[in-house]
Amino acid sequence: MTVIHKIKELREFLNLYIRDDKSIGFVPTMGALHSGHCDLIKRSSAENDITVVSIFVNPIQFGKNEDFDTYPRTLAEDCKIAAKSGANIVFAPAENDMFKGGIVSYVDVENLQSNLCGLKRPGHFRGVCTIVAKFFNIVKPNKAYFGKKDIQQLTIIQKMTDDLNFDVQIIPCDIVREQDGLAMSSRNRYLSDSERAHSLVLSTMLKRAVEQIDGGQISSQKVINMIKDGFNAIESLKIDYVSIVNKQMEDVDTISNGDIIALAVFIGKTRLIDNHIIGEPVCF
Ligand code: AMP
Repeated sequence: MTVIHKIKELREFLNLYIRDDKSIGFVPTMGALHSGHCDLIKRSSAENDITVVSIFVNPIQFGKNEDFDTYPRTLAEDCKIAAKSGANIVFAPAENDMFKGGIVSYVDVENLQSNLCGLKRPGHFRGVCTIVAKFFNIVKPNKAYFGKKDIQQLTIIQKMTDDLNFDVQIIPCDIVREQDGLAMSSRNRYLSDSERAHSLVLSTMLKRAVEQIDGGQISSQKVINMIKDGFNAIESLKIDYVSIVNKQMEDVDTISNGDIIALAVFIGKTRLIDNHIIGEPVCF
């Protein structure tokens, strides 16, 4: 596996493959790789001739009071994990290569962001879309792999790709969880032992919500209230949002198949998100 830091060098390297009509799979990440990322890399490696994994903690998707400075940066370890999962190239650009003297052009998907993380983290998805668009132009992948863990991000990236005619197929990948149900996240390593124990409430409440819905409950508000009651029982937990939305990320009154139960909470200082798409197999 090759580690490349410069955009120019990556382009030259990839052009050799593009000339030979090789297919390129792309997995964008912010590093601190875990089994969720590995799943994306393995899938890309199985479906493409070469797989590029980007590792870049993107400053323009973090809000002022968020964890950009403290976000885990573990490049050496990440390269080992990426190689083991089948990556051919890790692309880890420096900030000043990605942003040169500062950029003034951004990609903003106008719909789909007025709820959930888009509402709670203003500017976040503009930062995500801009960096992903830049990576698409640099890597020129045939397929790009995104986790359903970040379901609003996946939905927005798909819309951006359609709207701007990027010639890339977006591949959604299922959420990978710890054995006890906690959705894997680079931010899980912030959790103290007691916070880690409390974090199980996310998957537990998703499971209870699915049980209620399977039992015939269709009132979104009733399911939301049940989840909030479970969350409020934990002192160190602060709710950011508990919502049930349709594919357009709009709140629904009545639940139907394909709707999404979406959760975001702070446990101590750590923000965790999780979700479940109603009708999809339960994996917690
Ligand atoms: P991140 O490094 O957190 O920006 O995530 C990079 C990619 O990995 C995104 O497409 C995420 O949705 C995906 N991802 C992160 N955690 C998981 C997980 N637990 N299961 C599946 N995909 C994940």
